[in-house]
Amino acid sequence: MSKRDYYEVLGVGKNASEDEIKKAYRRLAREYHPDVNKAADAAEKFKEAKEAYEVLSDGQKRANYDRFGHADPSQGMGGGGFGQDFGGFGDIFDMFFGGGGGQRRNPNAPQRGADLQYTMTIEFKEAVFGKELDIQIPRTESCDTCHGTGAKQGTRPETCQTCRGTGQQEVVQNTAFGRIVNRRVCSSCNGQGTIVKDKCSTCHGAGKVKRQRKIHVKIPAGVDDGAQLRVSGEGEGGTKGGPPGDLYIVIRVKSHDFFEREGDDIFCEVPLTFVQAALGDEIEIPTLTEKVKLKIPAGTQTGTYFRLKGKGVPRLRGYGQGDQQVRVVVVTPTNLTDQQKELLRDFGKQTGEHTHEQHQTIFERMKKAFLGE
Ligand SMILES: [Zn+2]
Ligand SMILES: [Zn+2]
Repeated sequence: MSKRDYYEVLGVGKNASEDEIKKAYRRLAREYHPDVNKAADAAEKFKEAKEAYEVLSDGQKRANYDRFGHADPSQGMGGGGFGQDFGGFGDIFDMFFGGGGGQRRNPNAPQRGADLQYTMTIEFKEAVFGKELDIQIPRTESCDTCHGTGAKQGTRPETCQTCRGTGQQEVVQNTAFGRIVNRRVCSSCNGQGTIVKDKCSTCHGAGKVKRQRKIHVKIPAGVDDGAQLRVSGEGEGGTKGGPPGDLYIVIRVKSHDFFEREGDDIFCEVPLTFVQAALGDEIEIPTLTEKVKLKIPAGTQTGTYFRLKGKGVPRLRGYGQGDQQVRVVVVTPTNLTDQQKELLRDFGKQTGEHTHEQHQTIFERMKKAFLGE
């Protein structure tokens, strides 16, 4: 399946500003967030948009993408890092010796366990203030009964006679060009190098068991949607005494009815009556922790932002907190009584000349904008 163009994914032009890209992403994220949208392809669309945003919102990555497209070699896994390294020495080895089958290293060497990924959805405020909880992770651990060997208690796995413990069989062919040696995975021991005669009764010879493991997780205050926590050593168990892999916890944050978050800043929208906007007032604003008073100066226009210092999200790296930004929206009154209408008509008459004048200037400015004068 070919990858869609990142600009196309976000529905923006090639020259889109950072702001346009951010807005486009936020709109898509809201629409396709798996917590909100239960459509079959929503998660895929969400992931696609997130990936596009991660690249286009980063100046360097975007420049690379503009030059190389999806072929950018530095792009990799987009920061996820769950992929296995490939193209290492082992692959080259196999290519030359025709090994194949995945068993390329010494079968008796310790091997690190695989990394695990766990997605956790938390509430908006939990992301802001942090949270501690226990989670249950199903994972594979080394079997305690046989200490990972797979052999019955009191016995040990025996070295495979066919391959003498190497896990590989050599097939020699004599050709007109000389001897060609091919290596294959040993068919007697499946590349393990050892054979278990009497199997451990707990793991049935696998050397590993599936277990539910309880892990205590500390989510730091200030995490944002998409953050990844690495819990060292809590991935799948290693084999032959190798270390376990790591557990990666991917944080998904639910949206809030009133607050929105952008980085460390919190945004909210508060209605004002036009009387409050015109005459000024002191109003109460909910913040993440408490209600605070906000002074609205006389003559406040709709769409004005007021900043509540330090009422945002604690900074994940470093000290202090973001701010809360309050956008006021002036609400036009409806369902007026006859008396109220009369008062407004009087008001209009008194300010008529003034409004007319203002109207003229706005009209002039609009004309200029359209005609480019
Ligand atoms: Zn063998
Ligand atoms: Zn066992």
